[in-house]
Amino acid sequence: MMIASNFKTNYTRATAEVFIKTVQAFLVQTHNEQEVRIFAPFTALNRFDEVKNLKVGVQNFYPVQNGSFTGEIGFEQLEEFGIESVLIGHSERRHILKESHALIAQKYDFAKARDAEIIYCVGEPAEVRMQGIDAVMSYLWEQFEGIDVHYEKLIIAYEPVWAIGTGLSAHLDDIKEVLERLREKLSKPLLYGGSVKVENIESILHVKACDGVLVGTASWNEEAFCEMIRIA
Ligand code: 13P
Repeated sequence: MMIASNFKTNYTRATAEVFIKTVQAFLVQTHNEQEVRIFAPFTALNRFDEVKNLKVGVQNFYPVQNGSFTGEIGFEQLEEFGIESVLIGHSERRHILKESHALIAQKYDFAKARDAEIIYCVGEPAEVRMQGIDAVMSYLWEQFEGIDVHYEKLIIAYEPVWAIGTGLSAHLDDIKEVLERLREKLSKPLLYGGSVKVENIESILHVKACDGVLVGTASWNEEAFCEMIRIA
């Protein structure tokens, strides 16, 4: 199972260090071999230099090696930290930061050309969910347009927009239905994200097509995150 934490705009260098040390110690002590990922902010990446039992990735990058893109982080800067895993298409970047699908596809191609692991996020807003499963699936398939779904290092995260940060996870039946429909066409690991927490992670991971979770809010506490890894 893959258990990933998305720090979003949280954690300083100091607090990230406490988090990572706790999680690392837990993984060693319990001989836990789950695939753990932490999507850290750029500013805390140096704290992860020595990490061994888990992978650190980034939540964003600009699709260039380097150049004149004021305020952006290119791949050369990520490679310096040994970053091999990136989130692309997260709903907060699509909706709050207004990232276009063209830019998302450009990032995807760039990360693929650099052989990075890509966690590609898709998810529908509430108004689409209210129209039923067929509307949800056509919305999701549009988010795959121009995306090479055969890329070897692709992992897909289904994160319904309305379930992110709301405390209201999608119903198990809905997670099951969407993941199964994705699985029919995509032979890639499938994660679920959206209000995953200690109380619901076990039942979510029991959904057959679910290969792991991408957790925000509930993972921002190292004890809770370790507990979720233990349950998985
Ligand atoms: P929450 O777990 O806070 O709903 O966030 C999910 C998410 O956006 C992970 O990428």
